[in-house]
Amino acid sequence: MKKLLALTVVLIGGGVCLPTAAFAKEEKETPMLPGLPWRVHDAKRPVPRVVTPGETFSHGAPPPADAIVLFDGTDLSKWRSNKGPARWKVENGYMEVVKDSGNIFSIEEFADCQLHLEFATPARVDDKSQGRGNSGVFLFGGFEVQVLDSYQNWTYPDGQCGALYGQWPPLVNPVKKPGEWQSYDIIFEAPRWDDSGKLIKRAAVTVLLNGVVIHHRKEFMGETCHAELARYGKPRTRGPIMLQDHGNPVRFRNIWVRPLGDYDQP
Ligand code: MG
Repeated sequence: MKKLLALTVVLIGGGVCLPTAAFAKEEKETPMLPGLPWRVHDAKRPVPRVVTPGETFSHGAPPPADAIVLFDGTDLSKWRSNKGPARWKVENGYMEVVKDSGNIFSIEEFADCQLHLEFATPARVDDKSQGRGNSGVFLFGGFEVQVLDSYQNWTYPDGQCGALYGQWPPLVNPVKKPGEWQSYDIIFEAPRWDDSGKLIKRAAVTVLLNGVVIHHRKEFMGETCHAELARYGKPRTRGPIMLQDHGNPVRFRNIWVRPLGDYDQP
C-alpha cells in the first residue's frame, strides 16, 4: 500500500488533488463525470478511431523569433525539480525521464501560450495500458495532456495518449509506433478568477498531435486528478509547464513556448 501511495503522489502535478490509493477504483467506483454518461476512467467509453498521421509534421520545428526555448537538446538549465535541479538524462539532443527523479517544471511560468514539443515513448515495450510509455505535459502546473504509448495499447480512453487525463479522450488517435518521434503543438488558454477568487473562465486547450487536431478549444473540468473529479485549485495568473515522471523512460526534445498576448495591443 505504501508503494501505491508513493506512486500516486508522483502522478499528480502541482494541482489540487490529494494523494489517494485509488488505483483499485479504476473503471468501477469512480465518480460520474458531470453532464456525461461516463465515469472517470470509464472502460466503456468509446475508443477514439485510429488515424495514421503524416511522418514528420512539425518535427524539428524551428522556434519563432519571439519563442522562449525551454530545451534545445543541450541542457536542463530552464527546468527544475521539486527538490532542486532537474535530474533527467540529457543525451543526443533529447532529455529522458529518469525513474523516481520526479516531475520537472519549467522555471519560467506562463499563462496563455503556444507550446511545441516532441516526444518518443520507449521503443522497447514491456508493459501495457497505463504502464506503457506514460508521461504527461501539464500546462499551468496542473492541466495534463497525456503522453502514453497508445499504439495498439488499449487503456481507458480518458487516459490514452492525447487525453485531457481523466476528462476527455482525444477526438481521434494519431499516435506513432513506440520509439518514433511525435509532435505536440498545443495552444493553452489559462483559467481566470475574479478578485474574490471565483473562477470566471475555465482553462481550455487546442492540441495537434502529429499534425492532427485532437482537441479544439476544449475546456478542462479542473486540474488533473486520478480516479477523482477534477476541480480548480488556487487562483493564480501563471504556472509552469511540467513534464511527468511516471517511471517510464519517455524522451522529449525541441521544446519552445510563446506567451500569447491580447488583440489590439502594440
Ligand atoms: Mg501521464
